[in-house]
Amino acid sequence: MKDWQASAATLYDGSFRPMFVDGAWRAARSEREMPATNPADGTRLATLPRGDASDIDDAVAAARRAFEGPWSKFTPYERQNLLLRIAERFEAEWETLCLSDTLDMGMPIQRTLANQRRVLGMLRFYAGQAVSVHGQTIPNSFPGDIYSSTVREPVGVVGAIIPWNAPIAGSVWKIAPALATGCTVVLKPSEEASLTVLMIARIMQEAGLPDGVLNIVTGTGAEAGAALAEHPGVDKIVFTGSTATGQAIARAATGNLKRVSLELGGKSPVIVCRDADMDKAVPVAAMAVFANSGQICIAGSRLFVAREIHDEFVRRVADYASKLKIGHGIATDTDIGPIISARQAERIEGYLSAGPSEGAEVVTGGGRATGTGLDGGHFFHPTVFGGVTDEMSVAREEIFGPVTSAMPFDTLDEVVARANATPYGLAAGVFSTHLGTAHKLANRLKAGSVWVNMYHAIDPAVPFGGMKMSGYGREGGAEHVEEYLDTKAIWINA
Ligand code: NAD
Repeated sequence: MKDWQASAATLYDGSFRPMFVDGAWRAARSEREMPATNPADGTRLATLPRGDASDIDDAVAAARRAFEGPWSKFTPYERQNLLLRIAERFEAEWETLCLSDTLDMGMPIQRTLANQRRVLGMLRFYAGQAVSVHGQTIPNSFPGDIYSSTVREPVGVVGAIIPWNAPIAGSVWKIAPALATGCTVVLKPSEEASLTVLMIARIMQEAGLPDGVLNIVTGTGAEAGAALAEHPGVDKIVFTGSTATGQAIARAATGNLKRVSLELGGKSPVIVCRDADMDKAVPVAAMAVFANSGQICIAGSRLFVAREIHDEFVRRVADYASKLKIGHGIATDTDIGPIISARQAERIEGYLSAGPSEGAEVVTGGGRATGTGLDGGHFFHPTVFGGVTDEMSVAREEIFGPVTSAMPFDTLDEVVARANATPYGLAAGVFSTHLGTAHKLANRLKAGSVWVNMYHAIDPAVPFGGMKMSGYGREGGAEHVEEYLDTKAIWINA
């Protein structure tokens, strides 16, 4: 078995890791820096440039030059080949990428490794999309030899802003469709997890990406992020993160009316019907919320269970949760890794005390996990609240931690109404062995993705995104590349 600990010791040594602008690796113009720390133990992995508006200016100018220059000469087939070469490099360096992610943001190594199929699939799926973009010849009402047709053009310079909870998949899902369509990118990773994104830029550069096509500016949201969102030289913003930041970005983008796609937060319901296969449903419903310590936008954090089976099901989910192994992501048997930062840990603690004070009871968990090896980071026991009502803050607000709220229901009409009574609409899970019930629920739930007898399935070929305040625009599927394209109508009087 691979010795991840030994590999970890050599990957990051606390030294300076530059950002990537116009094919060059450099410090911030201001020469300011910020730390990159391992959330599992608080050790410093590296120092990063703290970029600001002036670095964003440089990156946007480089992206514009590349867009109008060398990159525009690439044929779709050359872009396809480049994406396929990048996929090969990813495959060769996959373990290092995963190790970097685990060190930088805490995701258990087993989970990062398991994302390989999805991430390589993304690169190869968009390689296929690169040669599938085409316009149409359209009949018109004009008499005579007047022809009308459309061509699809890349939208231009894309600004991408991503959160910290899935840096590999999160960045590839922004970069790959941009490269497929001929756009160029300025990406601002989260200040909490930039290291793997820089590694991805290095891999893409080595695979032959021309200078300026991809630029990574590290820095904070308030400085580099806000500057990118409002930059007049950016044609489109693609953002994944919290709903509040999404709203700020949409406002900032109005200056030059740049196009915007937003993948935001959620408070996703998991509905367990009385005919569910309990043995299969318990682990899936538990991991729907506890995977990645609950730090997933699609976390299924409202557990609605049919009253007839509620007590037994909740007890079994709690049992399952209490046996999950809490620890450093680097240990191969870890199920629940650290929370990314002290700020997030305080937020979670706030909900752990709000629940009981609003009347919820702790079925399992309820607090921090401490002990040998856990003291340098922020770890939490997976928590199941019982006796929850729809009005409680734990049932309404996104916690982004390993916390779920169990609630009984009596009828399908009732549970649909309660599940949909949220400003969010990102995802939902349904457990039932009755096909008709499953279909009925899937059709009536207001969510961008509904999983039946499963959870978390995301695939590059299948659209993913939110309804309501979980955002707009879709990632994945053929419609994803539409977000990176403009349509031009061409008229010819022959
Ligand atoms: P966040 O919104 O605080 O930050 C996300 C990114 O936006 C970071 O890079 C940050 O630096 C940047 N940012 C912050 N303020 C900004 C501003 N004013 N202008 C421009 N950029 C700014 O989110 P987070 O705490 O990093 O991540 C957690 C949130 O992300 C949760 O709400 C979660 O649900 C959501 N999320 C959604 C999805 C999805 O696909 N729907 C996926 C992952 C996470």
